[in-house]
Amino acid sequence: MSESACLSDQPASPQGPASFPPPPSEPLSKPAGTVVLGGGPCGLYAALTLARAGHKVTMIEKEPVLGGLARGHQRGANFYDLGVHMLHAFDPEVFETIKEIMGAERIEVPLNAKIKWAGSFYRYPLQFGDMVKGMNPLMLAYCSIGLLVYQAWYKCRPVVPRDAEEALIQLYGRPLYEFFFKEFTTRYWGFPPTQLSATFITTKMPRLSAVDVLKKLLAKAGFQDNQVQAVESALSEEILHYSRNGAEVMPRLVAAEIERLGCTVIREAAVEQLTVDAAGQRVVAVTYREAQTGQLRQLPCDHVISTIPIRDLITAFGEAAPEATRASAAMLGTKAITIYGLLVKKTRAIDALYIYYRDKAFHRVGEPKNAGLIVTPSDHTVLIVETTCEVGDATWEGAESVRRAIFADLESEGICRPDEIVEVHLLRTPHGYPVFSLGFEPHLDRVTAFVKSLGNVQTTGRQGGFCYPNMHKAMRMGAEAAKSVLADVSERTASPHP
Ligand SMILES: Cc1cc2nc3c(=O)[nH]c(=O)nc-3n(C[C@H](O)[C@H](O)[C@H](O)COP(=O)(O)OP(=O)(O)OC[C@H]3O[C@@H](n4cnc5c(N)ncnc54)[C@H](O)[C@@H]3O)c2cc1C
Repeated sequence: MSESACLSDQPASPQGPASFPPPPSEPLSKPAGTVVLGGGPCGLYAALTLARAGHKVTMIEKEPVLGGLARGHQRGANFYDLGVHMLHAFDPEVFETIKEIMGAERIEVPLNAKIKWAGSFYRYPLQFGDMVKGMNPLMLAYCSIGLLVYQAWYKCRPVVPRDAEEALIQLYGRPLYEFFFKEFTTRYWGFPPTQLSATFITTKMPRLSAVDVLKKLLAKAGFQDNQVQAVESALSEEILHYSRNGAEVMPRLVAAEIERLGCTVIREAAVEQLTVDAAGQRVVAVTYREAQTGQLRQLPCDHVISTIPIRDLITAFGEAAPEATRASAAMLGTKAITIYGLLVKKTRAIDALYIYYRDKAFHRVGEPKNAGLIVTPSDHTVLIVETTCEVGDATWEGAESVRRAIFADLESEGICRPDEIVEVHLLRTPHGYPVFSLGFEPHLDRVTAFVKSLGNVQTTGRQGGFCYPNMHKAMRMGAEAAKSVLADVSERTASPHP
């Protein structure tokens, strides 16, 4: 069995801007255009929008390969996604743009996702009929009565939920919360729902469509749920968009288009410092460190669109950011993920694009070959096995004990035997999921208020906005940030400041 670990996406260096040698100085007076920090889907789309509008833009990306969480990792002859990444077509403008850029490299894939629930496999998101099949009648009756009772209770006594546990109980009733959510949420995050903000439920967690059906029945009986909103489920029937090399293609082609339009993409360069003008009103330069040479370089800028983790952005301001802002930024952490990318000597391993599991050493197993990924040799397949973890723990390090647990669960699920696994590749990032810990909201508000106080900086995307967009939504956020830059430029051109 051969092995590799993707070590490049390490947590930001503890070395702060204060320890910098003075960056090389360049004149800051010439029009310098926009600097986009980070080359994931959001940064790429922001840069593309600006480049297509004829605006000068430079994108700075820490990694050698663009795409952020959605980039492809080549190991040997094969590509591994950091969690199978397929594009949704929900945003027509974004979709048409990406469709045009990907051309013949785009393939269409009918969504075929499953969830292992109560010992059987069901379509994901879970449908009402399937959920009923998965629960024994007594448990179903208990959960339905619980839903009814809690709905009635909260209708009479509306309260703002204090944490994720209360939000889930308001939505689903205590029996269903205990049965379906409590343990899984704790395992996933590494802490109980009582330590998670209610905001997480309203912005991230898909609503169980089964529960919606029950709720519709309750609404007919006069129990309207207007207390807590949860995001709607993904569609259970949908065409997704992918490529024969997996997630690798889309970011590569978008970056090529940006460069073709005459703009600059700087790879393997970590943004380390933002320089604010003497009035403390605008950022005038971005300093980054080249990975190859270790050199610091400084780029003058008129605007900055940042898609890097919001905590790292604030660190890059150094003492230009107030102490309270820096303290708040430190509260905005992210959950790490480690993907075990496996090359398996088996033509096909699962009967879906991906399957969610609730009680295994992994949360999801994807088989991108079922979406059209080319695997070499062709009688092998690639499995993308997803876990959440902490940086430096046994899962992150790919410890033998974790591998054994994963391999044993893969075998017990009939997916593959340990002796069929011929390569193991660890793909990991400290910035998998923004952690909506209890009370994070005022910290996020303080940090975003500071960024907004600087007239020419926006922080956006999944890491910069500290939120949970899919790729099309992250790209939409990038487009909106770019449009705001273009509006500012045209306003300043129309009425130039003295
Ligand atoms: C397991 C998993 C599966 C997913 N599957 C799907 C899917 O199937 N479909 C879908 O639509 N979405 C999916 N998503 C969501 C998708 O990954 C995100 O929506 C998208 O990547 C967000 O893009 P972004 O540009 O905002 O952030 P990111 O992709 O995180 O990009 C941020 C970029 O900033 C760079 N950066 C960080 N620090 C610095 C620095 N100091 N200097 C320079 N650069 C820096 C990073 O290297 C990165 O390239 C999935 C997410 C996960 C975690």
